[in-house]
Amino acid sequence: MAISFFKPKTDDEQVEDRPIIDLREVNKYYKTAVGDYHALEGVDLQINAGEFVSIIGKSGSGKTTLLNMITGIDRPTTGEVWVNGTGVHKLNENQMARWRGKNLGIVFQFFQLLPMISVIENIMLPMDFCRTYPINERRQRALDLLELVELADHAHKLPTALSGGQQQRVAIARALANDPPVIIADEPTGNLDSKTAESVFALFNDLVAKGKTIIIVTHDSGLAKRTHRTALIADGEIVNEYVAKVMPTLTASQLLQATKTAKTHTYEAGTMILAEGTNADTFYIVSKGTVEVILPRPNQSDVIALQLGPGKCFGEMEFFHEKKHRASIRASEAGPVEVLAIGYDQLSELLKQSEATQEALRQMANKHSGENLSWRGVSS
Ligand code: ADP
Ligand code: MG
Repeated sequence: MAISFFKPKTDDEQVEDRPIIDLREVNKYYKTAVGDYHALEGVDLQINAGEFVSIIGKSGSGKTTLLNMITGIDRPTTGEVWVNGTGVHKLNENQMARWRGKNLGIVFQFFQLLPMISVIENIMLPMDFCRTYPINERRQRALDLLELVELADHAHKLPTALSGGQQQRVAIARALANDPPVIIADEPTGNLDSKTAESVFALFNDLVAKGKTIIIVTHDSGLAKRTHRTALIADGEIVNEYVAKVMPTLTASQLLQATKTAKTHTYEAGTMILAEGTNADTFYIVSKGTVEVILPRPNQSDVIALQLGPGKCFGEMEFFHEKKHRASIRASEAGPVEVLAIGYDQLSELLKQSEATQEALRQMANKHSGENLSWRGVSS
């Protein structure tokens, strides 16, 4: 197919390491009759080029508000929003429309195709607006895009002559018109039956494989699990993804509580994080880098028993068993490490609210305890 696609930059072309989407301390207040409503609170979110990210959360939690910050449809009250190297929060209205047209493809739940013009004209519209392709190439490009979404036969119909799933595929083709690096979709399958939703999701997967960065808001936890990464939003705040990974049975608001309780600590490569035999009072979740679990063995050299990466935890064994560290933990030589630390008192508070989580952590502790003993050469 003649269709050209944005190519992700190779490593040596990558001038700076900034994620393609970078939200820093974003706050959004809506003015209402009863005062300001804090819809987004201190949101930090980084998404790398080529990632497929889902955003989930209850209705009213702030998902659409968050997407509107990224697309520039609305502005943060405070904080910064960087997309593909541009400070979106700094653009004026005129700059915004053209910048958006070239950099973002936006897909809505209710398609929002223009009903009075044909399918192919809907797809040509963004190219006309941004003058991204020569006039005599736009129609062919629109046709190629329709072919990509398997709707070339419907090019000259009005949108209303198409089914919901077909209209959404047209909307995706339109979103691709100017070959933007980023696609943003707010509940793109929310109005589709599950089979049709599946075909739309498959299309997103293909686009990710071609190098696009895609963010979708979805209510479908099954679909969310199949993206690279899920950001859970609760009451306008982002739940830490590693906290959510370690304690998946907590509710969204319990996860938010855990996120707020956790303190972030960083360690240089190769440094000791905690020593075997010392008192344990904290549960840790690895959020960046890798830690090594080091076990002493009688009459032998110490051994690196395990390496734990992001989303793995330590300190749960000592929480349930004796409160002395049974292993040393060190940041690996490979690079710096970041951990989230939750004190045992706060962990107790959390686990009191969720028997399932308490049980899951206890089982993990028992399993690790058995492994710990066998590594030391002690039969358990
Ligand atoms: P979601 O997409 O997760 O359902 P939204 O981002 O649409 O949530 O809304 C988050 C909260 O902000 C909701 O309580 C909603 O009522 C409120 N909100 C959204 N838009 C406005 C607005 N323009 N004015 C006042 N409140 C708003
Ligand atoms: Mg919404």
